[in-house]
Amino acid sequence: MVEPAPLTPCPPWLLDHWRDVYRRHEQGQLPHALLFTGMRGVGKKQFVRFVAESLLCRNCSEIGACGKCDSCAQLTAGAHAEFSVLLPEGAAMNIKVDSVRELVSWLQLSAPPGRYRCALIDTADAMNRNAANSLLKTLEEPGERAVLLLAADRPGSLPATIRSRCQATNLSLRDTSAAITWLEEQGMDDAQAHLSRARVGPIALLEQLSDEWIESEQLLQKAWKDLFLMRASVGKIVDSISGLPTTRCLRNFSNWTLMANKRQLNLPIGADHATSELISEVHDGLDSEQWFALYDRMQQLYRSDSASFKTQTVLEGLFADIRTMTQG
Ligand SMILES: [Zn+2]
Repeated sequence: MVEPAPLTPCPPWLLDHWRDVYRRHEQGQLPHALLFTGMRGVGKKQFVRFVAESLLCRNCSEIGACGKCDSCAQLTAGAHAEFSVLLPEGAAMNIKVDSVRELVSWLQLSAPPGRYRCALIDTADAMNRNAANSLLKTLEEPGERAVLLLAADRPGSLPATIRSRCQATNLSLRDTSAAITWLEEQGMDDAQAHLSRARVGPIALLEQLSDEWIESEQLLQKAWKDLFLMRASVGKIVDSISGLPTTRCLRNFSNWTLMANKRQLNLPIGADHATSELISEVHDGLDSEQWFALYDRMQQLYRSDSASFKTQTVLEGLFADIRTMTQG
C-alpha cells in the first residue's frame, strides 16, 4: 500500500500568480499551453504542479485544490487518469523525443466533459531540439480542454516556435514579505538581508546555505583553479565534478568567465570573497582575447541544449580546449 502523497502547496510568494491563472480559468480563457519562467529557485516546479493539481480539482478555487474530491484523492494516490508528468531521465537527465511523442498523443485524446487533461513538463529546457519540436503538434492541434504546463529555467534554450505558441509568465517575487516569512519558518536567520542580496529565489537561497551546496561549490572552485593552474590532468578534474548536474557546472563556469572579463575591463565583478579570490588566482591563465573567446563559448554552451548531455561529455571537450589555451 502506497502512502498517499499530500497535494502540492503553492509557494506563498506566488499566490498572486495563481490568482491570475485562476481568473483565466474562471472566464473560460485558459490557454492550451502555459510556460512559466523566472529566476532560479523562485519555485517554478512546485508552482506548475500546484497549478495542475488545482485545475484538475472538481472544486478548484482561488486558494487551489480542495483536497477532498475524487480528483484530489486520485492525485494524492499518485494515479490520476487526466494527469501526466514528463520528467528528465537517464544519466544525462534529458527528456527524450519518444516520451514527448507519447505525451502528445495522450494529450490529444479528449478529457471527460467539463474537466481538463493536464500534462506537465517542469524541466522543459531538458528537452533537446527534436524533443521540443515534437511538441509543436500538440501546440498546433491541442485536444479538447487539454492544458500543457511548462516550466523552464532557461527559456532561451527552447525553440522560438515553442515559445511563441505558449502563453509565457515570468514568475516574479511579487510578495517578498511572504518569502521572508517562509524563509524564517525554515530556520533562516536574517532572512530579509539574505533575500535582498540574493540573485536567486527563496528555494535556491535556502539550498545555497546548506552544507551539501557549500561542499559542491568548493569542489567546483577547486576544479576551476586546478584547470588553470595545471594542478591536475583534465581527466582527473572532470572526474572530480562529474557527479554534479551539467547545468550547475555550466552556470558557475559561465559566471566566472563573465567575472574574469569584467576584471579585464576593470569593472566591479560583484562576487563574494572566495569567488573574487578564485577569479584573481586564475586570471593570468588566459590573455584578454582568450577570456573573451571563452566567454563567447560559455554563452553558446549555456544557451544550447548541451545541458541535456552528461556533465562528463560537455566538460571534457571544454576543459581540454581551455588547457590548450592556457599552455599556448
Ligand atoms: Zn479537489
